[in-house]
Amino acid sequence: MSIPPFNEFLGTRLVHRGDGEAEVQLELQPHHLNRRGVAHGGVIASLLDSALGMAVISSMPAEWWCATTSLTTNFVDGPRGGRLVGTGRVVRRGSSIAFAEGEVRDERGRVVATASGSWRLWPRRPGSRPEARGSHLLRTDSGERIRPGKILAVGRNYADHVKEMGNAADAPPVMFLKPTTALVPGGGRIELPADAGEVHHEVELVVVIGKAGREIAADEALDHVLGYAVGLDLTAREVQAQAKSRGEPWTLAKGFDGSAPVSAVAAREAVGDGSALDIRLTVNGETRQQGNTSSMSRSVAELIEHASRWITLEPGDLLFTGTPAGVGPLHSGDRARAEIDRVGLLEIEIA
Ligand code: MG
Repeated sequence: MSIPPFNEFLGTRLVHRGDGEAEVQLELQPHHLNRRGVAHGGVIASLLDSALGMAVISSMPAEWWCATTSLTTNFVDGPRGGRLVGTGRVVRRGSSIAFAEGEVRDERGRVVATASGSWRLWPRRPGSRPEARGSHLLRTDSGERIRPGKILAVGRNYADHVKEMGNAADAPPVMFLKPTTALVPGGGRIELPADAGEVHHEVELVVVIGKAGREIAADEALDHVLGYAVGLDLTAREVQAQAKSRGEPWTLAKGFDGSAPVSAVAAREAVGDGSALDIRLTVNGETRQQGNTSSMSRSVAELIEHASRWITLEPGDLLFTGTPAGVGPLHSGDRARAEIDRVGLLEIEIA
């Protein structure tokens, strides 16, 4: 029997994570209560540890690790049910220790417990060898790290983008691969290759595979999804146009270093089947792309079915699901902000 990570087992859900702050929810269930029908102190303390710890994680580079070294909890009142919200914020952070505080409120907004604590920080997992910078994706609900596998991508999956690129409306979606070295987990500063020419942004919903499979039927496809992320399929448009005109592959146009920035991963349980999500991208504060994943020609489940007929999907594999209209060039110094409802936020800056 496989046991889920502790936060998942407990039932906590990350609803917000900002720069040094976090909010975690817990719907109280009968097994969270003691014999008197009051939430067990350990449940409240765990919720606080989760909220404060997530605030600490949000304040440090993605490849860093942390562990709780102290947590002092003050119980104010004993909740008997409903939804609890734990809020954490970092009050001070150095290079090896962070201090955070927070509270748990009940549905009426009353404080039921407060906490303060300290966290030990490491630049990488204790005892591990140094790794390439930021080679893992972070899971937002548990803080767990996901080792990314191959990066599959689909083009022409939104009708309005098919039109803006001058393709026929009935052109079938095209699939391509990006190498793992294209990945930029968590976004940040991106250096484009010197000969890249004009590089376009394409904001996309990214599916993260959690369970291996081949020839996966669409009605079982979501069982293979661990979660979703916000991704940018950066495309060297002139290089791609040349390749298209010569009938050559898109490898360099789509696979160069830094061409796949991807946000932290939101669990499938918090997002659903990937449909009906607003997706948008701003560059230097100006909206460039705005759409909804319900406009995809092929759904997440259909894309998984289609791809897995040809290529075995493995845990950690990423699937870019196509972009809505509004693609355009990025220049040195540009800051792009990509956002998908319930999934997350990705920010990059072009060096
Ligand atoms: Mg794309």
